[in-house]
Amino acid sequence: MKSFTRVNYYKLAIILFFSFNAHGQDNIITQENKKVDDAILEVIDSIKICKWKYDAQSCINFSFDDNLLSQTKISKIFDQYGFKSTYFIIPNSMYIDSLKDMAARGHEIGSHTYSHVSLGGIDSLEIDFQTRKSKEMIENCIGIKCLSFADPYHETTEMSKNIVFSYYSYARNYSKYINHSYYPLFSSSTLQQLTNYISKGISKGEILLIAGHGLEGDGYSPISEHFLREILNLVNDYNYNGVLWVTTIKEGIQYENLYHELMLEKKFTNDTLILSFKNFNKLKYKNEDKAMISIKIPFNSSFEITRVTQNIEKKMHDDKYIFTMDLKKDTSMVLIMKNSSPLTKNIIDEFKTTNLFTIYPNPIHKVLRIQDSRIMGNGEILSIEIFNTDGKLIQKQITNFSEIDVSRLKKGLYFVKKNMQIDSTIKVYMAKFLKF
Ligand SMILES: [Zn+2]
Repeated sequence: MKSFTRVNYYKLAIILFFSFNAHGQDNIITQENKKVDDAILEVIDSIKICKWKYDAQSCINFSFDDNLLSQTKISKIFDQYGFKSTYFIIPNSMYIDSLKDMAARGHEIGSHTYSHVSLGGIDSLEIDFQTRKSKEMIENCIGIKCLSFADPYHETTEMSKNIVFSYYSYARNYSKYINHSYYPLFSSSTLQQLTNYISKGISKGEILLIAGHGLEGDGYSPISEHFLREILNLVNDYNYNGVLWVTTIKEGIQYENLYHELMLEKKFTNDTLILSFKNFNKLKYKNEDKAMISIKIPFNSSFEITRVTQNIEKKMHDDKYIFTMDLKKDTSMVLIMKNSSPLTKNIIDEFKTTNLFTIYPNPIHKVLRIQDSRIMGNGEILSIEIFNTDGKLIQKQITNFSEIDVSRLKKGLYFVKKNMQIDSTIKVYMAKFLKF
């Protein structure tokens, strides 16, 4: 009976219509009844377009130039980390089969001119030939759309930029938006330099562009496989924490462009939320197979959010939901916001009001470790319980409290409860972790 009343309340109460641009200025267009549930309003109000996928703080791209044989190996090392990378090639000497294979594994193949000339020192006809011919050859021989371009020697003019953008959607060394930074990889580069560059870039929310050539003696100023793995291990640590998104030039700059171009319009009636992405320029993205967008919705224990629109990816990320979809398939996202089940609400409310304790590592793949696993003052642990975000008990351990094997859990967010007896009272401590 309670939920029936709630539904009617919404039906009577709400026809809401919000709009705000990507910079977050909210503008309520109509609000017919002010007796809208404050909590739900607050949540809708704070829905935003993410600048990067999964609401990462920064985006990083690795590109390798000049079409070298060792780049096949580089791409396979990236595969081991689940990362995509970009290869800028000179198509008058292509390793066609290996490039086809790299493209099939999700890496990006871009153009580095037809014969590796400086665009700063040639006339417009020659620039046109160098940029057009290389694109044609790559597309014909490899069977892909070639959308990204990188200038040899970084030498450009306003004219060369204009010609490049008449054939390509993305250029590594310049874009409409200015927050890019560039790091050339040399044989002499050190992990300390890379660490400084990456952490500075993350704090500024930039696209980080790291560009090199070959591996182990191949091409100009090559790096060692060992060093490449050191760099990827460093990036992987940030990636696990959702801070950094590793992707191709095409995907990274596309996300950034869409973030600046789109307006998010929000419409909420009954329990249905319609998010419309306005200003999507279909013509501009006609050559791309995808145009992905992510939005973030803060986690609120009062509501459960489910998808209506097909093909939306839903991810629980720490204390927010991230929904990702392809604008080429649909330019609006329909979600249902319903009152949470009592189980979900209980566990989240309990988490908010309980003492926290430390677990590590986080995110976790296999074994969760617990600090102070035995004694805390006069206390003794009675049990450790793991709950999913629906509030369902998934796992319970009543001996060995220093570590718990969570390898069989599905990916996602979980809550851990530590039940302790301290003197004659039972005290509860909680923590949450992300399983990947
Ligand atoms: Zn080059």
